[in-house]
Formats: sequence, structure tokens, C-alpha cells
Amino acid sequence: ARRAQDATEVLAQSGVAAPAIRPAGRNKPFDYMIVGAGFAGSVLAERLTTQLGKRVLLIDKRPHIGGNAYDEKDAAGVLMHRYGPHIFHTNSDEVSGYLSQFTKWRPYEHRVLASVKGGLLVPMPINRTTLNTLYGVDLRTDDDAEAFLASRAEPVEKIRTSEDVVISKVGRELYETFFRGYTRKQWGMDPSELDKSVTARVPTRTNDDDRYFTDKFQAMPAEGYTRMFESMLDQPGLTIELGVEYEDAREEAVYDRLIFTGPVDEYFDHRYGKLPYRSLAFRHETLDQEWFQPVGTVNYPEEATPYTRISEYKHLTGQSARRTTITYEYPRADGDPYYPVPRPENQALYKRYEALALETANVHFVGRLATYRYYNMDQVVGQALATFRRIAEREGRTIVA
Ligand code: FAD
Ligand code: UDP
Repeated sequence: ARRAQDATEVLAQSGVAAPAIRPAGRNKPFDYMIVGAGFAGSVLAERLTTQLGKRVLLIDKRPHIGGNAYDEKDAAGVLMHRYGPHIFHTNSDEVSGYLSQFTKWRPYEHRVLASVKGGLLVPMPINRTTLNTLYGVDLRTDDDAEAFLASRAEPVEKIRTSEDVVISKVGRELYETFFRGYTRKQWGMDPSELDKSVTARVPTRTNDDDRYFTDKFQAMPAEGYTRMFESMLDQPGLTIELGVEYEDAREEAVYDRLIFTGPVDEYFDHRYGKLPYRSLAFRHETLDQEWFQPVGTVNYPEEATPYTRISEYKHLTGQSARRTTITYEYPRADGDPYYPVPRPENQALYKRYEALALETANVHFVGRLATYRYYNMDQVVGQALATFRRIAEREGRTIVA
């Protein structure tokens, strides 16, 4: 039988220096088993142990904590993200305040350039600089840019799809330059088949703000995400087992309640059919040069280029090193589930699983895969904190964040 490891041992095996963690012991039954050590599972593990004194077993099938936000130093000593670039941003004081208990921050505002017309680099989201560079015009004010876009925009009666959103704002030409090819690669389908919420994530600007996000809090965990997770999970009463599948753990572990953060359709053995999730292949490269590109991410919207974007971590982390590490993202259908695919038929199928989830006593479904929502990290943290509040209230405890 598999032996439970205390958190210290597990963190040591994950290749990161382990903090002193008291072993929880596994001979007692657990109050909760949590499946998935990403943001959803880790926030709940921390809250349940520290605020309600629960005994918690946290498992993950991967050999590390942090879920898709996991970062690590590569052979060149560059801090990189194994599952693609993760930039933290939020407007929620509750979320930034909560995470600030576990990390210091490095202020960082993400900037993205799009490589168009065979290599011209222009700001993305589209802003006044993008228009001036692309069209060789001299739009000087917001009003100028607004009028320019209005003259190209095509009226769309009811905005439903990811194509409608963009065409109605900037017209077909800019849509084709920046959105159509990228989206067709990223999702394996045309923007006209995807919910409007997907491309609506990327705004259009008439000013010259070239930041990717405008949230009031934008920063990277000063020593990386994995360190932040270690600090969050360094709690008495918490046992962590890595490299363990839920299928196996549920046979062995004794627990009262379950928190599941994996794909919801998998939990129910795909009873109503598979929920589509989009995957990516990552190509990580370390180059023998100090810098590769001028900003954190360059997007490649042209359909002929097989990847969607290249990110260079040193821009994000502020690390100095002689060499640099970059990641290419190649979208694909098979592989680890990374993105729920927002479109009406998938939402309808998810609703059937959600109904099953609601009727399943003593199990909570939390996170991007378990609630089939295209959530950023901060939204997952907010969702986990809300779940925790409901659990605490059910026990007659009022928790002040
Ligand atoms: P995950 O991090 O996916 O954690 C779920 C965990 O459950 C995984 O570790 C998995 O191994 C485990 N698990 C699943 N099934 C089982 C099972 N059966 N048994 C055991 N373990 C299981 N968000 C941002 O805010 N900013 C960004 O810049 C950003 N960039 C991103 C880039 C990419 C390429 C991707 C894919 C996502 C990005 N995100 C970003 C989103 C972010 O990754 C998610 O919001 C967040 O990681 C979701 O946390 P989670 O806990 O719900 O899921
Ligand atoms: N998108 C695009 N061109 C771009 C950037 C984004 O068409 O240059 C579309 C694409 O459909 C993408 C979506 O907008 O999937 C959301 O972009 P975001 O950068 O938020 O994607 P994520 O970081 O979540 O992969």
C-alpha cells in the first residue's frame, strides 16, 4: 500500500527546498480529501486546515504542487513555467490580500506584441499605436482612433460569437489580421463557432495604453508560484500525496468529504459523453543569448505559423541570467485538458454534469476544470474562497477573510 508522505518529504522530492512541515500522520481518517493541488485545491486545503482545524489529504496525479501555475528553475537556472506563461492580475482586494499572506510580489505589467504582415511587431490589444504603425496614419487622440475604427466596424445585429464581437468593433480587416487565424489555431474552430466571451477577453483601445491587462493589481510572486504554494501548504493537519490518481486514492484513503478540482465529466465517468477541453503542446527552449524578444509575449496570429505565441520568462520574473528561456505554444485537441471550450452546446452538456454535481452529497466541485469555466487564476482563488465560506457557514462559523 502506498504510504502517505508528509509535506516536507513531498516538497523535497519535487526538487524544491522543503520548509519544515509537521507530518500529519495518516492513520487517522481525514475530514476532507482534496483532488488537485492547483489554485482551487491548495486554497481550500489551506483554509480548511488553518481556519476550521480540519484534517486534510491533498492529492495530485502530477509529481508537483501548483497545478498549471507550477514554475521551476530549468537547467540554465532560469525560472520558467512548465505549463505556459502565467501572469497574475486581479481587481479583487480579497484575492490579492489572501495570496499576499504567502508571498511577496514583484510588480509586473504584461506587454504583448503581435507579429503581423510577415514580421511587423505591433501592440496587442489593438491600440492607437497599432493603427498608426499598421496603416501609416497619424491618429493623435482617442477621438481620432475611435472615428478610424468606427469607419471600419461592421454593424452586427446581435453579438453572439467571437467573430461578431471583433467585427462589430474593428471591422473585418483587423479581425482577419489579429483574431481569425489565432483563434482558428488556438481552438481548432472558427471564431464564428465560439462564444463571444472568448475574444471579448481582449479589448480594443483608442488610447496608447499597451498593457495586456488593466487590473489594479498586477504582479508576479517574488520567488515564483511554486514557492507561494509551498508556503500556503506548509500547514499542520495537511497531508500531501503526489503522483496519485483519484481513482486509486479513493480506494485507500478514509475521508468524510471530497473536493474535486479535475475535469467534472471524468468524475462522472463521462456518463453523458466527453466535455471538450482544448490542449496545448509546449516547446521550451533555452538560448545561449541574454534576450530573445522585446516583451514577455509575442503573438503569432498568422494561420500558417503553427504556434500561437512565444513567451520569454525573464521579462515576467525580472531575473537576470546570461541565457534566456522561451516557450512556444502549439494548440492541439489531445493531451492534458487546459481550456474549457466556450460554446453553447458545450455549456448545455456541462449543465447536465453540473446538475449531477449538485445532487452528489458531500462532494464540492471547484476550479477551472471542475466547473468548466474559462477562469483566470484570481477567479479560481475567488471561487475557492467562496466555497470555503459556504462550508464554514454550514458549520455555523462565520469567517472574516
Ligand atoms: P489546475 O491548475 O489545472 O489544477 C488541477 C489539478 O488537478 C492538476 O494539477 C491536475 O494534475 C489535478 N488532477 C486532475 N485530475 C486528477 C485526478 N483524477 N487525480 C489526481 N489529480 C488530478 N491564468 C491567469 O490568471 N493568468 C495567466 O497568465 C494564465 N495563463 C495561462 C496559460 C496557459 C497556457 C493555461 C493553460 C492557463 C493559464 N491561466 C492563466 C489559467 C490558470 O492556469 C488557471 O486559472 C488555474 O491554474 C486553474 O487552477 P485549478 O486549480 O482550477 O486547476
Ligand atoms: N486572441 C486572438 N489574437 C490574439 C490574442 C487573443 O485571436 O492576438 C483571441 C483567441 O481566441 C484567444 C482569446 O482571444 O484564445 C483569448 O486570449 P487570451 O490572451 O486571453 O488567451 P489565454 O491567455 O487565456 O490563452
